[in-house]
Amino acid sequence: MGKLDKYARQSKTKEPSKVLPIRLPESIYEHFRQLCDELGLSMSEAGFLLIREELEDSLYNETTNEVAVTTERIQKSIHHEGTPYTKNDTGKLSSFSTRWTSIAYEIENELPCPLCHHWYSKANFSRHAKNHNTTTKELLESNEEVVNTMINERKLTT
Ligand SMILES: [Zn+2]
Repeated sequence: MGKLDKYARQSKTKEPSKVLPIRLPESIYEHFRQLCDELGLSMSEAGFLLIREELEDSLYNETTNEVAVTTERIQKSIHHEGTPYTKNDTGKLSSFSTRWTSIAYEIENELPCPLCHHWYSKANFSRHAKNHNTTTKELLESNEEVVNTMINERKLTT
């Protein structure tokens, strides 16, 4: 049911206490009294537990936000330093330290354009990729399926 359930059988603290008189509309008072009856708590006990939970919650949220901010900062700095690995479409990890080459896609010094479905000379390919507002690597890797199909087709005809 409510927030108080889990405290139903919990004992009171032994710290010296102060009294907080709370004025409530009659309907809420009655409702709360019934709830406390059901839970076996006195109304002041229940009031205390609610207030304490509220205070602990806000304490918790403050810490959580701090953690979130810190985590974000760490992630940003990791990102800025350059992630050593990048995931390509096949889900394999490839290292940035090895320079990417188009060699895997080359056939007779030509490269396939998956968008035009046409083969272009390797020397002109990066200029061609620019026509599609992209780079050779991007063009080939983000359309790997078409590229592979084109490569297979070409292998069959030669
Ligand atoms: Zn093209």
